[in-house]
Amino acid sequence: MALQLYDTLSRTKKPLRAPEPGKPITMYLCGPTVYGRAHIGNARGPVVFDVLYRLLRHLHGAENVRYARNITDIDDKIMAKAVAENRGPQAVAAEFEAAYFEDMGALGCLMPDFNPRATEHIAGDHGMVAMIAALIGRGYAYEANGHVLFEISRFDGYGQLSRRPMDEMVAGARVEVAPYKRAPGDFVLWKPSADDQPGWESPWGRGRPGWHIECSAMIRSVLESDTIDIHGGGIDLTFPHHENERAQSCCAHGGAELARIWMHNGFLTMGETKMSKSIGNIITPRELLDAGWDGEVLRLALLSAHYRQPLRWTDSLLSQSQRTLSKWHLESRKSEDFRFHNQDLSGFLSPLLFDINMPKFISNLHSVVASPSILRGIDNLNYGDPDPDDSESRKMLHALAKIIGFNLDRNKSGFLITVLSDHHVALVDRYAQARLEKDWPTADGIRDQLAKDGIILSVARDGTVSWRKA
Ligand code: AMP
Ligand code: ZN
Repeated sequence: MALQLYDTLSRTKKPLRAPEPGKPITMYLCGPTVYGRAHIGNARGPVVFDVLYRLLRHLHGAENVRYARNITDIDDKIMAKAVAENRGPQAVAAEFEAAYFEDMGALGCLMPDFNPRATEHIAGDHGMVAMIAALIGRGYAYEANGHVLFEISRFDGYGQLSRRPMDEMVAGARVEVAPYKRAPGDFVLWKPSADDQPGWESPWGRGRPGWHIECSAMIRSVLESDTIDIHGGGIDLTFPHHENERAQSCCAHGGAELARIWMHNGFLTMGETKMSKSIGNIITPRELLDAGWDGEVLRLALLSAHYRQPLRWTDSLLSQSQRTLSKWHLESRKSEDFRFHNQDLSGFLSPLLFDINMPKFISNLHSVVASPSILRGIDNLNYGDPDPDDSESRKMLHALAKIIGFNLDRNKSGFLITVLSDHHVALVDRYAQARLEKDWPTADGIRDQLAKDGIILSVARDGTVSWRKA
């Protein structure tokens, strides 16, 4: 079965084409504007897209996939922060670009093949200035008052992606109704810079690009194609950002569609409210990592809802994800050989092939490995010679978890070491064994000992032992 992905433009699930020689699958995700640390909501898109990237590499080989995620390193918010802190905008951008790579890495995201910086794609053959000049040349953009504007009425397809009526788009764009615009919805491709602001030479004077043109130019430049396979971002980027990207790219490239499939992830919320810097209800991956949560726990929590649905962020989501991962790690480490041979994983991958149905994939993972004993709880484990079927299912758990970016190899991930020391793991094992033998005094003693170290045990109705940090 080909991978099916929901496309925002057509409102249908569409099959992704197979890569051809010399024509890899190309994907682009709108990256951060680097003026502050990412919050956990900002991380949802990169983690979801990382799963897709890993899945495509698994299906087609790394050489057949090209993934770009940009860095917006020129922006009025960066400039404002630089002025407030009395330092250069490059210093601000460099600091938060490094922080972004660190945070996404901690969440298990692979480094994309390309991480283009906007400022490095202003000049050049496929740079922003060249693209803006082409749009003026073809009659889609005009110069006014030192600005260059895209004239939305010139593109028939404007509004198709977000399916908004024109008057709503104009209001929604929250555009300043500048007197030099031909229509209020026309958006900025280029704007002038004052002498003390960062600026680049252009046919329209010294200035800087608008946000939307940055992505259009970077896509064309690094992915080397007018039409890419997948373009992604948060649902809020559909309008105006992606509507404008699509309009610019289509018009500059003789009508070629910018993306075959447009993917948008839902919001991460606190209660019912979107997590957002402007509302102030944010929590950052850095804070959670510093509080002792493992990056894989945050990753699993971010993947716990379908990517197009809202995801409500709670403390219990984190502890639940930690319990699931602890079980996976505990089970997996009992297997001698993590290499996985001769097993066809494709059946297990089918939920992912159907628009990345992660909740279904994870619940299948539980049932797959629950037979014969894995994941049913450590007190059900065979403590003698490993049952061969059991070790196969452990290997399968290891292989499937790896496809979605979890490394259950204890030595590599260090998960058990950071989450629970070997000493504590051994105590949990002994507790489970004592319960199995109905040796209640020993079990109670171990429970108290662990409680003193801040580890709380619980036993489910089916006898599954799990633990959490107090
Ligand atoms: P912003 O900092 O608001 O420009 O957002 C940067 C990126 O994070 C964009 O792709 C947004 O769609 C995404 N984003 C922002 N807030 C959230 C949220 N609460 N949940 C999911 N994605 C978000
Ligand atoms: Zn973009």
